[in-house]
Amino acid sequence: MTERPLPVPDRDTAPFWEAAREGRLRIQRCLGCGRNVFYPRPVCPHCLSSELGWIDCSGRGSVYSYTVVHRTSEEFRDQVPFTVALVELEEGVRLLARLDVGEPRVGMPVEVAFERVSDELSLPHFKEVD
Ligand SMILES: [Zn+2]
Repeated sequence: MTERPLPVPDRDTAPFWEAAREGRLRIQRCLGCGRNVFYPRPVCPHCLSSELGWIDCSGRGSVYSYTVVHRTSEEFRDQVPFTVALVELEEGVRLLARLDVGEPRVGMPVEVAFERVSDELSLPHFKEVD
């Protein structure tokens, strides 16, 4: 079986992955305009400032949209069906991640959890709030 492909942290995303390894969800906040930014990048998409800091998120949000995956590439074939959701965080940005719930629905409150996949990487996924 082909090995599951994993993210490769780079200069822009390393702080995100370091926090994830510690079980924290971290996003960028622009020091120029004060808006939150996700995914990690070197320049604010709103005001083009390159002064971006990092904040820890609450880890809570709601399902903005989702899809249930039944057909996929070989690396994920043993995991189907699975749900991928666009989660809108309380901080106002949207994050694409696995959603581990039985019956997903738009607007469902969810919270982040982390799956440790290597010594370096923990992947965020979301589960239903109890
Ligand atoms: Zn900005």
